[in-house]
Amino acid sequence: MEQTVIDGVPVFWAQGPAPMTATLTFGCGTRDETFRTIGITHLIEHLAMSTLPRVHHEHNASVGLEITQFFATGKPAQLVEFLDVVCRALADLPLDRIDKEAGVLAAEGGQVTHPTAATLLARRFGTSGYGLAPWIGPGYDRIPASAVAAHAARFFTKGNAVLTLTGPPPEGLRLPLPDGPRPFHEPQAPLPVAGPRWSAESVPCPGLGMRGPAVSAAWSLGMQVLQERLTTVARREKGLSYDVGAERADVDPVTAERMIWVDAREGRETEVAEILWDTARQLAAFGPDQDEIDHEVTAFAEAIEDPRLVDAELDLRARAELLGESFHTSQEWLAELKAVTPEQVAAVISEGLRTALLVVPEGGVLELSDRDGKRVAVGGCARAGAVPDGRVFRPPLFARMVNGSARRASLVLTADSVTLRDDDGDVHMVRFADVVGVEVHDGARTVFGRYGCLVPIDPDLFRGAGEAVVALEAAVDPALFYPRTDLIG
Ligand SMILES: [Zn+2]
Repeated sequence: MEQTVIDGVPVFWAQGPAPMTATLTFGCGTRDETFRTIGITHLIEHLAMSTLPRVHHEHNASVGLEITQFFATGKPAQLVEFLDVVCRALADLPLDRIDKEAGVLAAEGGQVTHPTAATLLARRFGTSGYGLAPWIGPGYDRIPASAVAAHAARFFTKGNAVLTLTGPPPEGLRLPLPDGPRPFHEPQAPLPVAGPRWSAESVPCPGLGMRGPAVSAAWSLGMQVLQERLTTVARREKGLSYDVGAERADVDPVTAERMIWVDAREGRETEVAEILWDTARQLAAFGPDQDEIDHEVTAFAEAIEDPRLVDAELDLRARAELLGESFHTSQEWLAELKAVTPEQVAAVISEGLRTALLVVPEGGVLELSDRDGKRVAVGGCARAGAVPDGRVFRPPLFARMVNGSARRASLVLTADSVTLRDDDGDVHMVRFADVVGVEVHDGARTVFGRYGCLVPIDPDLFRGAGEAVVALEAAVDPALFYPRTDLIG
């Protein structure tokens, strides 16, 4: 791999098969957004791409949890033009196109990761950083233009960019990005949840999330074996599922979240979730067979013989530069995989399961035990145990008469919080200090909290709740309020 610097931007290149691919990577992803600005990175990416002339070579862009990439494949002169246009657009975004691109993005409805993995991240981190993954937030049309300009100026700069090429830098290549330092990504702490948890969520299929070391050949290999075993049991033997998927989030240079999901035939979700849990526990208890390790090592050795892999290796190099992740060449990683023992896999999965989050689609009920035989507790949003003392608002009398469950619901206002006691009797409290967004819709307000709860303050649902609206508006930063989006529903 060769290295140079162009216009202050680090450039890494290695010879791959023609035609050449150029990838401009920024150390900015959806984890750098807030609830109030969900989608801002994708909006910036679309605004920049909208300035490209009609071109015939392959080009695209993507936004991930940690990085955003603009890439093109073609003749050297085409790559030079592509990079020039994208850099100039990022330096001077066409903010007047926000409305148009907001509509396009809402229609596109893209997600940063699989919805089950996204929900696992939300239950790990709450409604900030990585935990924003499953949320829509205020909507693309509610992101202020000033916030778009500020986000671009902070993250889409020379200091936060790396260019990678599958061939030598073409003649005349320029990267006219704005100046700016490499931003610091504050390490994100998980919500304080002790031990494994399960919860029923609006997810398409069951999934399991675990926390552990960012760099661990044993863990990487163990997750591959887990995926193989789940495919064998859930799909081939029982015919309950078609697909097993996995994803990782590199939270900081030493910590990763790993998520695995198994889709399930309708009505069999709970059974599949139990298979997922039991298969992971089995692997944690006994480790893989040597055969299974050998199979994964052989598969990796074959994969890296593909000359197109140079692009993936360059991506890892760019991430290492921008995010401080450690970089291994494919050969180095192969050597690490070969050295993995069954005991190491068992140990790392076992540690991971101490932090396990398991989700199952709505309506599912899981009865699981951990390795000490203790019952796995219910997780989900941060439900409070008791209703706080405060001003209580009840549903209108008529609603209570016709709807039995409405008899249980109430809204409670205290000096520093609002609480919903829902129809099921669950208690969702949001302190004013923990509010991440407030949707305004006529006389109602929907309050979104840091720990995943939301509280509707709606005078139609709770008689006299206008008083709670007044208290909320006095206590919460006005910048967190936004009118309901015009784009969806
Ligand atoms: Zn809640």
